[in-house]
Amino acid sequence: MNIYVLLKRTFDTEEKISVNNGVITDDGAEYIINPYDEYAVEEAINLRDEHGGEVTVVTIGEEEAEKQLRTALAMGADKAVLINTEDDLEEGDQFTTVKILEAFFEDKEVDIILGGNVAIDEASGQVGPRLAERLDIACVTTITDIKVDGTTVNIERDVEGDVEKVETSLPLLVTCQQGLNEPRYPSLPGIMKAKKKPLDELEIDDLDLDEDEVEPKTKTTEIFLPPEKEAGKVLEGEVDDQVKELVSLLKTEAKVL
Ligand SMILES: Cc1cc2nc3c(=O)[nH]c(=O)nc-3n(C[C@H](O)[C@H](O)[C@H](O)COP(=O)(O)OP(=O)(O)OC[C@H]3O[C@@H](n4cnc5c(N)ncnc54)[C@H](O)[C@@H]3O)c2cc1C
Repeated sequence: MNIYVLLKRTFDTEEKISVNNGVITDDGAEYIINPYDEYAVEEAINLRDEHGGEVTVVTIGEEEAEKQLRTALAMGADKAVLINTEDDLEEGDQFTTVKILEAFFEDKEVDIILGGNVAIDEASGQVGPRLAERLDIACVTTITDIKVDGTTVNIERDVEGDVEKVETSLPLLVTCQQGLNEPRYPSLPGIMKAKKKPLDELEIDDLDLDEDEVEPKTKTTEIFLPPEKEAGKVLEGEVDDQVKELVSLLKTEAKVL
């Protein structure tokens, strides 16, 4: 099987970031594989081990994303591709990302593409479904189980806590949800092997794209952090008095009564 994984490098949302003049400052923040993409890498490896073939992990990003690609190779992926936009593009949105991925997949024989359900930083959840549409292949989102038998694919997907069962066929794009598997940690031999596995680097030129064609369709007009939460108020005294004070505060301060 020709198995591809879409992987995004994101900053860890546990990290402290700040916003200065509308720009996110992530200096010193730890970068990771988007957690939903870890499920995708793990499932891709399992599918390859069961059905044969090759797992290729693809990311659009900057030189630094090589680290996350090497981690995916150390987990067990066979090849990685970095589409490096550092020198060519200053801005991008979901349209940009999908347009570049569409060009990448144009000459590829694809059986299955696995991506994350959502990227934890920008969280639009658009890239997978939009790419499937552009490639004219089936798409199932938020999967928690997948069984491939020939070209028939049986999937369980998470629908807000319930399970929906879907039957579809290859070629296919799926987006992965928590519960699909337990992503493995790279082993020491895996890390050593990963250093020798192929990691190709492409630029948008190599995909016959020029800057105009991938210009973003959306513009971010403002970025700001949520307001700091004010400290809560603890009421004291007799219960009757507390209730009176609470009602009064709800009227005068919270203005919800
Ligand atoms: C050239 C370029 C410049 C950019 N510049 C800016 C900028 O200036 N400001 C800004 O805020 N954002 C920028 N972005 C990021 C962009 O706006 C979105 O992050 C991106 O389109 C994905 O949307 P999302 O994060 O909501 O992902 P979602 O749609 O939530 O991601 C779902 C899944 O899609 C896949 N995926 C998403 N992104 C990638 C990727 N890059 N490579 C491989 N797979 C991926 C992963 O499997 C992921 O789990 C840029 C992107 C590009 C390509």
